[in-house]
Amino acid sequence: MNAEIIAVGSELLLGQIANTNGQKLSQELAELGIDVFFHTVVGDNDSRLYEAVEAADKRADIVLLTGGLGPTEDDLTRETVARYIKTDLATHEESMQQLTSWMAARGKKVSEANKKQALYLQGGQPFLNPAGLACGMTFQSEETLFILIPGPPRECFAVFNEKIRPYLIRELHGLEAIESRELRFFGIGESDLADGLQDLISSQTNPTIAPLASEGEVMIRLTAKAGTKTERHRLLDEMETIISERFGSYLYGKDKDTLVSKVLERYKKEGKMLAFAESLTGGGLMEEFTALPGSSQVVRGGVVSYATSVKESMLSANEVIDKEGVISRGCAQVMAEEVKQKFQADVGVSLTGVAGPADQEGQPPGTFIIGIATADQTVTEAFYLPGSRERVRLMAKKHASHLLLK
Ligand code: ATP
Repeated sequence: MNAEIIAVGSELLLGQIANTNGQKLSQELAELGIDVFFHTVVGDNDSRLYEAVEAADKRADIVLLTGGLGPTEDDLTRETVARYIKTDLATHEESMQQLTSWMAARGKKVSEANKKQALYLQGGQPFLNPAGLACGMTFQSEETLFILIPGPPRECFAVFNEKIRPYLIRELHGLEAIESRELRFFGIGESDLADGLQDLISSQTNPTIAPLASEGEVMIRLTAKAGTKTERHRLLDEMETIISERFGSYLYGKDKDTLVSKVLERYKKEGKMLAFAESLTGGGLMEEFTALPGSSQVVRGGVVSYATSVKESMLSANEVIDKEGVISRGCAQVMAEEVKQKFQADVGVSLTGVAGPADQEGQPPGTFIIGIATADQTVTEAFYLPGSRERVRLMAKKHASHLLLK
């Protein structure tokens, strides 16, 4: 079962707003075990929207449109889809009643334009909008399920979560509900993981196993289908055990876990405090920690020692910098030890390196060193992971979190 999401709205094309509905709807569909193969964004233009619907109909089992269900003339999603599937529009009485009461409560009359919002595709199923006036709807053609939901995010997800999701579960899976679990891996590439699980991926239907790449990490989404929660969990647990027998050393978390949240969880449990000395990442690693609730139990503070002079003055790294330079294991070691001691933390973490685009100290972008100082020892690990400046900084933060976890 695969889907295409069509976001309708000229403001999306003009770059005035980002297609966040597309992103979140993709996540919602993935959780239902529906693969999204295409995202399309199209303006408020009848013929181009028609073309987009036609193309999507040819290649997807489900065409989910968001936006263009409002009262104004440029809101034409339902009209264009009706023309494409050759059906009329009919009034959804419940939506019309909601509209009439809403207007009456504000001393307004229902205009012809407003009435559009209660129209649905005849032969399909309308859904009352719990957060607004325009109804959502589905229409099952011979081969394709069309779903139309409003554009304003609050309305989009109220209609999706309260109406469309249960509808999809009922229609697609009968009474058997589905449940997904994401396993999160770090330090292994998507293809290596997929190769190592190929036998399971190709033979397994319940749960299904889908590898997904995410920035610098890999995820495996398991989706189980069964009548009871206990049975779904049993299926997911069993598969998780098999996968962790093969790749447990890379498996760091599940679902909403991140490397940073796992470090926080572990350190909180062990009652350990952390201090940061960041050069290359400019405080970005500590920012990720402090973004999480409960971080004050773990984060003591840090130094953004971006300039060499700050590394020297605040972290006493003059000698080592003179001898080995800034991009060196020695510098990472001193930074981590000094910050740990200065902030009276249990663990000090340091990052120094070259984000690029220019070389530094003769070292190419993508070179970075992470230091971790604990009560017993200081370890440093050197990396060379070339890429954009943004990517180098991202990977440095992920590796530092991973080392803290190890
Ligand atoms: P309305 O009744 O408000 O006209 P509508 O269904 O016609 O609803 P649009 O007019 O297309 O929706 O969009 C209304 C607003 O919703 C947009 O101005 C924008 O703020 C937000 N919106 C629409 N589509 C998206 C999207 N794909 N992602 C994020 N926000 C969106």
